Amino acid sequence: MTATTSEPLLTFEDAIATFDPVMGFEVHVELNTLTKMFCGCPTEFGAPPNTQVCPVCLGLPGALPVVNEKAVESAIRIGLALGCSIAEWSRFARKNYFYPDMPKDFQTSQYDEPIAVNGALAIVVPTEDGPRPVTVGIERAHMEEDTGKILHVGGATGRIHGADYSLIDYNRAGVPLIEIVTKPIEVEPALAPAVARAYVTELRELIVALGVSDAHMHQGSMRVDANVSLKPRGRVELGTRTETKNVNSIRSVERAVRFEIQRQAAVLQAGETIIQETRHFHESDGSTTSGRIKEEAEDYRYFPEPDLTPIVPESAWIERLRATLPEPPLKRRARIREEWGISEHEMQSLINAGALELVQQTVALGADSADARKWWTGEIARISNERGLDVAALPITPQDVHRIIMLTIEGSLNDKLARQVIEGVLAGEGNPDEVVVSRDLAVVSDDGALLEAIDTALAQQPDVAEKIRGGKVQAAGAIVGAVMQSTGGMADAARVRELILERVGDSLG
Ligand code: ZN
Ligand code: MN
Repeated sequence: MTATTSEPLLTFEDAIATFDPVMGFEVHVELNTLTKMFCGCPTEFGAPPNTQVCPVCLGLPGALPVVNEKAVESAIRIGLALGCSIAEWSRFARKNYFYPDMPKDFQTSQYDEPIAVNGALAIVVPTEDGPRPVTVGIERAHMEEDTGKILHVGGATGRIHGADYSLIDYNRAGVPLIEIVTKPIEVEPALAPAVARAYVTELRELIVALGVSDAHMHQGSMRVDANVSLKPRGRVELGTRTETKNVNSIRSVERAVRFEIQRQAAVLQAGETIIQETRHFHESDGSTTSGRIKEEAEDYRYFPEPDLTPIVPESAWIERLRATLPEPPLKRRARIREEWGISEHEMQSLINAGALELVQQTVALGADSADARKWWTGEIARISNERGLDVAALPITPQDVHRIIMLTIEGSLNDKLARQVIEGVLAGEGNPDEVVVSRDLAVVSDDGALLEAIDTALAQQPDVAEKIRGGKVQAAGAIVGAVMQSTGGMADAARVRELILERVGDSLG
């Protein structure tokens, strides 16, 4: 595939032979509070543009913000789950910048006094030699508000360059965000892209387990900025980094990191220097292209927010919140492995497919874990790969998969038909039962119709019929095949075999 960028690349192997990559991640998580961070506007996704706004989130003169307690609670729980210290005293700050996505002309954020600092997240990285435990240091988690959404209309790329005009939707402006920032991550160079993927996967799972966000990357409720820099092997000081913004799937995070390692290595190899800048990731070919020159912190003229009082959480409150933390994901996975009787390797492929939660939800509805795993990591994962999407982004739910499994167990669907039902559900044709009806997919379970097909097949292949009568039961396979063909694959093969043997047995008797 040709890259969107014309910049030269080194192969990944050549890049890591000379350079040590250092990564860092800034992850923005939209909290699922009912109202915004500093006003009472609703946060529901998908409302008509500019219908969820008020004088506070529009920054009208004289409007004063009030902190959302639930958002602070979620921030503290995230901090605790990441092993951070919760600040006894923290404060909001104004991050000033001139861009119309924030009607106030500043974003209320936290700067040098964040609510949570200095934690760690234990992850497991799949490698050729088996799973490898890695600890990712967490620098800080701070509270801030989301910006509005700008839609550039008329250009080919959806970006501002080449657009005829731009539209702004402030519904998202003021939605509570937590930004989680890692410490520099230095691992065995070859593992860097896999570590990136495992970190985001693990963090997302933790956020979902905490119940503080749906963390849907494709809808932007979890957004990853990936920082990558290289240093020549043996050098201590960090190289200049780039920041690839808003990567919106777990798979893309891994690809973006890999691409930046290859691109930066080629730049450095040629004796040139890396420019500190933001970069855009392109889903189509996995490349990144230059964005804007990255601002330094001083460009934002941060200063303490004068309209909000500092956050001073009582220790009793923090301890109450600590008691609500879910089982840590690593522990939870060990327990699930035990319950489902699966290996660490099988668990890893579930996680890599992004299917663990979905399988769990399907099992919670009553499906057998082996059946649930089979469909989510088989046919559904195959389609998600084909479409370059995470399985969670496909329009099929655990309820749908559970129903398909039930229909298979009842015998009204065989595997082939079940795959067609999945295809129909994904095509928006309705739930599994509706697809079965509209596509006329139920297995032919009417014995009368099957016997008719069997009689025809036996009559067409008298030699086979003779063999079966002579006791060669395995010869029945040819008749089963013929019946499957004449019913368009819509028969239950096991039942057909039974009926053939009964039929031939009858004629013997
Ligand atoms: Zn508002
Ligand atoms: Mn931020």
